[in-house]
Amino acid sequence: MFDIQQIRHDFPILGREVYNRPLVYLDNGATTQKPLCVVQAMTDEYLNVNANVHRGVHFLSQQATDLHEAARETVRKFINARSTAEVVFTRGTTESINLVAACFGQQCMGPGDEVIITEMEHHSNIVPWQLLKSRKDINIKVCPITDEGRLDLNVLERLFSERTRLVSVCHVSNVLGTVNPIKDIVSKAHAHNVPILVDAAQSVPHMAVDVQALDCDFLAFSGHKVYGPTGIGVLYGKEEWLDKLPPYMGGGEMIDRVTFQHTTFNHLPYKFEAGTPDYVATTGLARALDYVSTIGFETIEKHEHELTKYAREQLSEIDGMRLFGPSDDAVVSFLVGNIHHLDLGTLLDRLGIAVRTGHHCAEPLMHRMGVEGTVRASFALYNTVEEVDALVAGIRRVAQMFG
Ligand code: PMP
Repeated sequence: MFDIQQIRHDFPILGREVYNRPLVYLDNGATTQKPLCVVQAMTDEYLNVNANVHRGVHFLSQQATDLHEAARETVRKFINARSTAEVVFTRGTTESINLVAACFGQQCMGPGDEVIITEMEHHSNIVPWQLLKSRKDINIKVCPITDEGRLDLNVLERLFSERTRLVSVCHVSNVLGTVNPIKDIVSKAHAHNVPILVDAAQSVPHMAVDVQALDCDFLAFSGHKVYGPTGIGVLYGKEEWLDKLPPYMGGGEMIDRVTFQHTTFNHLPYKFEAGTPDYVATTGLARALDYVSTIGFETIEKHEHELTKYAREQLSEIDGMRLFGPSDDAVVSFLVGNIHHLDLGTLLDRLGIAVRTGHHCAEPLMHRMGVEGTVRASFALYNTVEEVDALVAGIRRVAQMFG
């Protein structure tokens, strides 16, 4: 049974007020709130276990290492990777994508080689490729979207050439809520012998993501968007690919033997984990994934889909409402009449309603849609129908003020 009030109790922040009004938190696409169990697991580790991992013979270090590696196993199970060697801890989606761009770019790409991305990417799946372009003179090809906000798969097919080395695409758009047909795109890429990186920042919090079922070669996500702590994320990579790539950063942990002349590198996944990892955050992430797994994605998806559908229906009845994208997932983007997105967001905030405004780190997508920015409401498992009603009432009130 899905008891929403019980779930809301797990997230103490949801009980607070802003401007003397109950908080309505609808900015989950940016980051989710944390259940008490995550904060407690991290507090407990700092208070009772804290020691640097992997390097110590002493009791605490071993205990901290056990927790850290148990967290890796929790992530492995959560995304169904074949082995923990395929689970690299990073600071988040952004670092994971940069890692692939840097290491795959160094090893597998040269002047004139091509990466395919899409028009709906977050800046973190655009700029790393531009940085690589400036270093290696690669070309970036962009798959367009339809007016409905879906990838134009016919054009995607035509973008492949004998110079295509990688496809890098988001699973779910953080602006449009489009769920891309990743399995089909993976098949297309593999039919051309091209590996694929999936930006799963906006899918992992909302649906079961099985890397073996998707058969993607790399996948990136952030802990903080899935009820976990900030500063921790994951890069999944097939072992055969990770093995081929050079290290990302140099330092402790990632080495095997070091002399001034020559260094050999640690085995996977440590080759990509230079320096002290955020071992407390990995514990928090594991606790968050356990929390989500206990509720189950069947339940979460049903709840979030109902909320999203309801929100779209209610919003579309507002005069002057422009909705962007299909909102397959827990994201609704919109503009109302001539009200500037920033004005709408600011006035909603005064009513206690937290939404995001602006370009959502997807400026090229804004250009495609012919707008400067939108207002985005994004839902999580703890949001309620009443909160959607509050959003709709808030927008109506602001619209009235603007006449
Ligand atoms: N990709 C997508 C689709 C996102 O929504 C985000 C976060 N808004 C990112 C990447 C970047 O995630 P992070 O800032 O956690 O690295």
